[in-house]
Amino acid sequence: MRETNTYTETITKEETLSITCDCCGKTEEGEHVGYSSSIERWTHEFGYGSRFDTDQVSFDICDDCYEKWISTFKHPPQNSNQD
Ligand SMILES: [Zn+2]
Repeated sequence: MRETNTYTETITKEETLSITCDCCGKTEEGEHVGYSSSIERWTHEFGYGSRFDTDQVSFDICDDCYEKWISTFKHPPQNSNQD
């Protein structure tokens, strides 16, 4: 046997309303941007030996800026999801 009590709980949640590319300034808005957007969050922690060692950076970059960015690479990033 269980004795129960009914109560109201308040939950605070965060939702993304808009995302802006830190490179070009393009903004996407709408309820969908939290799970579907052409602007991605990139996060990186520089490793030991780097002159940026211990720096943790994150930025939002759109597909167009990503494409322009990697076009400057001597060796473009490998896509491990190629079918
Ligand atoms: Zn951009």
